[in-house]
Amino acid sequence: MPHPCLSCGACCAQYRVAFHWMESDEASEGGVPHALTQRLDPHRLCMQGTYSDPIRCVALDARIGEYSRCTIHPNRPSVCREVDASWEYGQVSAQCDRARAAHGLAPLTLADWRWRDAADNDGPQPDDNGNTPSSPPQPPIAA
Ligand code: SF4
Ligand code: SF4
Repeated sequence: MPHPCLSCGACCAQYRVAFHWMESDEASEGGVPHALTQRLDPHRLCMQGTYSDPIRCVALDARIGEYSRCTIHPNRPSVCREVDASWEYGQVSAQCDRARAAHGLAPLTLADWRWRDAADNDGPQPDDNGNTPSSPPQPPIAA
């Protein structure tokens, strides 16, 4: 079973993603690609597409509920790194559940993380063979 976020993407098409302009690659090396942002106010930028209706981040490559990938994953905004998928770390994430529900997807359960169990340690998943789990597309939070 793959990481659930890789077949979801709902949160990247649900929340407004705003962050301080200092996170942009114009201000910080390796930062969020400035070309994919728009200015909100003197202090904040947002990801293009997340202050639109419907919301869909410009960096999202996904068919929601089928496959999902953040095309700027290593350079995504801090807010996108801060929200966990439900049960990824042993507790519910209200933002994850809400985004999935808005896109007609059932909330994640503990069963969705079975692939990380020690008993399932011989497959191609990121944590198999003793590796640390990777961080798949992380959800944004509303500003
Ligand atoms: S955090 Fe939740 S809503 Fe966001 S991609 Fe992962 S499973 Fe989907
Ligand atoms: S994780 Fe990537 S695709 Fe999703 S909202 Fe953040 S920048 Fe956009």
